[in-house]
Amino acid sequence: MTPAVAALIVAAGRGLRAGADAPKQYRRLGGVPVLCRTLAPFLAESRIGSVLVVTGAGDAERYDDAIRQLPENTRARLAASVEGGETRQDSVRAGLEALAAAGFAGSVLVHDAARPFVSSALIERALAASAEHAAAIPALAVTDTVKRIDAVGRVEETLPREQLVFVQTPQAFAFQPLLAAHRAAHAAAAGGFTDDSAIMEWAGHRVATFAGDPMNLKLTYPGDFEQAEQRLSRPLVTRIGTGYDVHAFADGDHVWLGGVRIPHSRGVTAHSDGDVALHALTDALLGALADGDIGSHFPPSDPQWRGASSDRFLAFAAERVRQRGGRIDHLDLTIVCEGPKVGPHRDAIRARIAEIAGLRLDQVGAKATTSERLGFTGRGEGIAALATATIRLPESE
Ligand code: MG
Repeated sequence: MTPAVAALIVAAGRGLRAGADAPKQYRRLGGVPVLCRTLAPFLAESRIGSVLVVTGAGDAERYDDAIRQLPENTRARLAASVEGGETRQDSVRAGLEALAAAGFAGSVLVHDAARPFVSSALIERALAASAEHAAAIPALAVTDTVKRIDAVGRVEETLPREQLVFVQTPQAFAFQPLLAAHRAAHAAAAGGFTDDSAIMEWAGHRVATFAGDPMNLKLTYPGDFEQAEQRLSRPLVTRIGTGYDVHAFADGDHVWLGGVRIPHSRGVTAHSDGDVALHALTDALLGALADGDIGSHFPPSDPQWRGASSDRFLAFAAERVRQRGGRIDHLDLTIVCEGPKVGPHRDAIRARIAEIAGLRLDQVGAKATTSERLGFTGRGEGIAALATATIRLPESE
């Protein structure tokens, strides 16, 4: 069995260096709170069972306001937030203690809320590293020459940069050793750690590295916000993706279509719940992103998707668009079958798709047709769906 994974998002900082009156994790970036941007890819990653945010004292209202911007179905995956402490170290420990109190065991990814450009790919690398090591951190090679200076700025020595790396988050840890290291550091009043791997080093653990991501910018100074806004304000280009899916009828008494359970004299053969509509829509979005297909992200060979509810596939693809700084303009769906009758369920299907993808109802079209008794759908052997997604993505650099 794969061990459980939790993500702990540290959002307790006051962010004074970044200027402005609100802590930086609650400032808006491209119209969306920084915290929401940071949370989205963690909430979209189905291997992460629990996402917990550590907030600053007195930030409860800011936190509630911010997470209200997340689509309802993804917001539901957030664990209750935990109030942090004076220092980052205190805050992480508070989050770990909350997980311990809930009986958590497994691996934990610790990530700073002030890094809103964390990519799904980087999270995947952290997950892979967490399966191999008790402690692993994303690292980037140092390309500039690095010097050590004295108090008045005179160079004392040139450091060999081959031995240096820049370190980011998310950092991946086995939960128990990290909790033990934090408790020990607290008991020993050992402080001044700027990340969790330093606490693991202090506790005598070896820390592995994996490839970081140069785009995983940390918002620290006002200039960082300007740079981030510029990145997000690149012109958007329209892209259109298509998707198609078929499932064969089998014995059963219902089918899932667009996330709605519809009673029928047959069921479908499928590895997941066999929702052709959600599968076609997921592929349409992934197609528009040129980011593989449903099978490459959710392999049928993986037992965890057996009987899976397909809403998570569509939610994943929709988050993937937002993660790239894009937006979904419209989803359109055509279901092809002789039965069940889709018309009576059309509005429920549109509403459910809108809810899953985080869209308004007027951004989702759904239609159904028979195929005039021709072909496999006409013979009532199966059900098919075609989908189109229209999205806008920032122009690539
Ligand atoms: Mg399918």
